Amino acid sequence: MLGLYVHIPFCSAICNYCNFNRGLFDAALKERYVAALLREIATHADGSPADTIYFGGGTPSLLEPNEIQSIIAACRHAFAVTADAEITLEANPETVTLERLDGVRAAGINRLSYGVQSFRDEELQRLSRLHSASRAADAFAMARRAGFDNISLDLMMWLPQQTVAQWLESVDALIDIGPDHASLYILELYPNAPLRDEMARARWSQAADDDAAEMYLEAMARLDRAGYTQYEISNVARTGRESRHNLKYWTDGEWLGFGCGAHSTRRAVRWKNLASTTDYIATVAAGGQLATERRELTAREALEEALFTGLRLARGIDVHTVNTRYHTDVWGIYGGSLERFRDAGLLIYDGRLLQLSRAGMLLANEVMTVFLQSPVVH
Ligand code: SF4
Repeated sequence: MLGLYVHIPFCSAICNYCNFNRGLFDAALKERYVAALLREIATHADGSPADTIYFGGGTPSLLEPNEIQSIIAACRHAFAVTADAEITLEANPETVTLERLDGVRAAGINRLSYGVQSFRDEELQRLSRLHSASRAADAFAMARRAGFDNISLDLMMWLPQQTVAQWLESVDALIDIGPDHASLYILELYPNAPLRDEMARARWSQAADDDAAEMYLEAMARLDRAGYTQYEISNVARTGRESRHNLKYWTDGEWLGFGCGAHSTRRAVRWKNLASTTDYIATVAAGGQLATERRELTAREALEEALFTGLRLARGIDVHTVNTRYHTDVWGIYGGSLERFRDAGLLIYDGRLLQLSRAGMLLANEVMTVFLQSPVVH
């Protein structure tokens, strides 16, 4: 089954740490963009079965419910979208009202993913987010009132000036609110992030590496005790509420991405659309080539990609299945390099399943480099 990703590159303001493909909201540009999206989706029409649609951004909750409805209708027209498809909208807490949430639910959205990041106002202000902690809690309550029974919240750890105890306040607040799914990310400061300058000016710093490790491990322990199951390095869910769409990225699945900068992977071919919003609109209008960086994965790259992403999952990699699918011997090829991680307790291998331990998840990038013996595009 295909996953369908729809990129919405508009935000009300640009956060000081953000490295996504996005720009400031402009109502006229958004209208032209949605029209281009509808055309792009139609050009891919082949009736293939699809069981997820994911509106990511940017801030997709800036779309009007009728725009969301028409994009979902275009997807249903172009593909055989299953009746029970998971249809997710990423939403910023400050953008929603009960009326809008009723509207997006009626439009077909059945899963919401809120970018909360923190339940402490001073941290949200340092990140230049537009919402407050109480606004985030209200947005969650409104979504429940609108009938959403599948809601995810994102939090970010290792924020400037954040102590372990302050981070855990946000984790506890999340547990109290009780979403169905949560994603916990570590703040990554890209080289030119305005937040870097602000940190230098205000003399803000991030906690020591050991504290960052404690933040991760203690948060996961609390989520375990609260009944969530960790299914991926950064993701936990109630039973049956794992993100079906995101699992496609980690389980060797196939997906088509629509919109500027969207990535696709299908039949071992990978491509990325033009990143600029205006170039994207103009190219769709002219019937031109949207895909850039189109390349076929070699068998070796496809194998390494399957291992690299599969190891992100808590259940790990079924080595027998991978061996059969790729006509290979995973442990025979990589075992020698992986042995030291197993000895250090970071990796578990029982002859069939290859998994990171929780401590290993903290050092996942280091372990995964073993699989990157030939160049792989991510
Ligand atoms: S709302 Fe999200 S996508 Fe938009 S600027 Fe902030 S972090 Fe980036």
